[in-house]
Amino acid sequence: MNLNSIASLYSDPEAARLFFEKQCWPDGVVCPFCGLVGEAYRLKAKPDSKSPVRAGVWKCKGCRKQFTVTKGTIFEDSHIPLNTWLMAIHLLCASKKGMSAHQLHRMLGVTYKSAWFMVHRLRYAVSQEPMASMLSGVVEMDETYIGGKRRASKRKTQATKIGTREKDYLGPVADKKAVFSMLQRNGDVRSHHVQRVTAANLRPIISLNVEAGARIMTDSGTVLHGAIHPRKHDQVNHRSEEYGRYERGICISTNTVEGFFSLLKRGITGIYHHVGSQHLHRYLSEFDFRYNTRKITDGERSVMMLRKAPGKRLMYKQLVPPHVAP
Ligand SMILES: [Zn+2]
Repeated sequence: MNLNSIASLYSDPEAARLFFEKQCWPDGVVCPFCGLVGEAYRLKAKPDSKSPVRAGVWKCKGCRKQFTVTKGTIFEDSHIPLNTWLMAIHLLCASKKGMSAHQLHRMLGVTYKSAWFMVHRLRYAVSQEPMASMLSGVVEMDETYIGGKRRASKRKTQATKIGTREKDYLGPVADKKAVFSMLQRNGDVRSHHVQRVTAANLRPIISLNVEAGARIMTDSGTVLHGAIHPRKHDQVNHRSEEYGRYERGICISTNTVEGFFSLLKRGITGIYHHVGSQHLHRYLSEFDFRYNTRKITDGERSVMMLRKAPGKRLMYKQLVPPHVAP
């Protein structure tokens, strides 16, 4: 699958719908109401009936309910044609650092608001289920901060309260968003937006995502040390310019997770520019997904994103409170 084949093979919504049905139901049509597999039939208009049947409607033999392939997915109730959705999926999956809603709006000819909503739904579709599987083997952990660099002058003028004492000044990460990532070497990454990087905040995330027997590697940060305790872990001391060392043939370093951070930061800075705090976790899902599928082709990644759509629904009002525009 590439842009060319999407444009020629799935140029209309009906062709795209057949493609969605084939991908989402590889083992036969699944009823979203009762879960029956392969027991639904396509509804056709009766010969003498005047009212036409909506395109792509199936009827379950078990519960007698009607549905389409988009029922219960991120595409439900969307007015965007499915072939446009397919394009959006592919553009987001094939761009290494993501694609902004503005660019999608220009490229696909949908409104900015629609494009924005589409990409957020796609990000939501690829968000990882907690406890789906645990990270094991060598697991690198680190935190990073997202947000612009504060100007030196701003730091001087923004004491938290009146007074000019040194401790009233904001720290270098005070108004940035903290991201904590766990990366299994040669495996998957999981990133979390945390309000503050404290041992108490990180501990539950680690225990939900990392197997007890995993070999954990961090830098010399004391917060991480507290969060991982009493589990054993290896540390590299960046302060003394140690970035990796070998112990019995295994490299102790956090270079892999830092490589992921550099990709994440380039994407956020270069493509998205500003990310709202309330949406950051969805952007992280997007970058995690692209990283975790780095070994497959863009086309395969797009199909994988499409297959993650069932069972996920995201309403516009869940994304933005009624009085706030994107
Ligand atoms: Zn059913």
